[in-house]
Amino acid sequence: MFRAIVVSRPSDSAAHADLVDATDDALGEGDVEIDVEYSSINYKDGIALTGAPGVIKAQSLIAGIDLVGTVSSVSEPVEGSPTTGSPTVKVGDRVIVNGHGIGENHPGGLSERARVNSDWLVPLPAGISASQAAAIGTAGFTAMLSVLAIEKQLSPADGGEVLVTGASGGVGSIAIALLSKLGYRVTASTGRAAEHDYLRSLGASDVVDRATLSEPGKPLQTQRWAAAVDSVGSHTLANVLAQTNYGGIVATCGLAQGADLPATVMPFILRAVTLTGINSVYCPRPLRLEAWGRLARDLDLGLLDSLTTSIALDEAIGVAGRIMRGDVRGRTVVRVQ
Ligand code: NDP
Repeated sequence: MFRAIVVSRPSDSAAHADLVDATDDALGEGDVEIDVEYSSINYKDGIALTGAPGVIKAQSLIAGIDLVGTVSSVSEPVEGSPTTGSPTVKVGDRVIVNGHGIGENHPGGLSERARVNSDWLVPLPAGISASQAAAIGTAGFTAMLSVLAIEKQLSPADGGEVLVTGASGGVGSIAIALLSKLGYRVTASTGRAAEHDYLRSLGASDVVDRATLSEPGKPLQTQRWAAAVDSVGSHTLANVLAQTNYGGIVATCGLAQGADLPATVMPFILRAVTLTGINSVYCPRPLRLEAWGRLARDLDLGLLDSLTTSIALDEAIGVAGRIMRGDVRGRTVVRVQ
């Protein structure tokens, strides 16, 4: 028996999350077992743990889209599984798993134990603690993927402002810390007046009220942003595109305002703006390893610690409700053991 947060969706009532004593058969398939030390609460975990539809694709599943822990056993790859296995994984390795459907269609990381495919594992980078890797988690990994996409088109030496929306959240906070450390001039967009000092402490040079971006706007507006990381979607993303400089780039990674995109083609055909999509879940392994390598190199761990709150496993369901209300700042690490 081990403790895990399981989301159940009975056919006759709404889905609910409970901290339970689970058994081996809740772990699913995989060739590697992990003693999980830390997980985290992302927006997606908020959706899953509050019983809202769209994330958990099973009637009953262990939640948690992130885990960090130690390999406790390694077996042959499961027959018929797409995994190729990894002969280099061994008992005692400290590893990270983000995405690959854990906490969505495969049992997840809010659990003292996990069973996954070995080719999903990322070695814990030197210099980053297990707790810090969980603090980075899917949100920080997604922020890094967004920065890598922007870097292909814009260097800090090119100048110009980079806008980060959803700034006080997990993706936004880590995106600000990364971009500012790399030398970009960052503007943060937030709905929380009380967090302006926090956002400046992460490296934002300027802060704008998200209300200036969240209502319907004109297809083309005054050019302001050389690039943007948008975790908000909807009218905010449409306005960001309309305000992006000629030749600028916008990385879209989230939908905190909405999944719609009420925009026109004008920024693309008249200003050569690029809109690039970011997906962390099925990110190919070479890019995954590159992003974690860059996080180890470029993320200020002091700033990471300053934006991280740590909670126990039995507090995770409560924090899920708060993240859905936009009431959580930065990142929340879950101590699983
Ligand atoms: P958080 O809840 O930590 O951050 C979201 C932030 O968005 C909030 O802190 C808030 O920032 C802002 N926000 C919330 N509601 C609204 C609203 N109605 N209108 C405008 N802004 C709003 O979530 P995460 O950082 O974990 O995730 C952010 C988004 O990115 C989510 O949609 C998530 O699903 C997505 N995501 C996508 C991934 C991918 O692979 N593409 C991976 C990870 C996350 P403030 O208070 O500062 O305004």
